Amino acid sequence: MAKKVKANKKGKKPHKNNPTSKKYTKYKMVGDKLVRDKCCPRCGPGIFLMDNKGRLYCGKCHYSEFESKNDVKTEAKK
Ligand SMILES: [Zn+2]
Repeated sequence: MAKKVKANKKGKKPHKNNPTSKKYTKYKMVGDKLVRDKCCPRCGPGIFLMDNKGRLYCGKCHYSEFESKNDVKTEAKK
């Protein structure tokens, strides 16, 4: 007789590791110099902007910057 394994929803949850911050991808070594990606103008250095198809976005203060061909529009939502 096979025993059915019940999904135990109560009690301790199995430990899951959180995905690590990929902040190191924002730093690059060019020759001897350390080059950083664009930071958030509101949050200051250390807070980087997410890059998505020519759009930069800050996940902390929701600052977004659009970079279309020639004109650069900046928009900030609250
Ligand atoms: Zn920000």
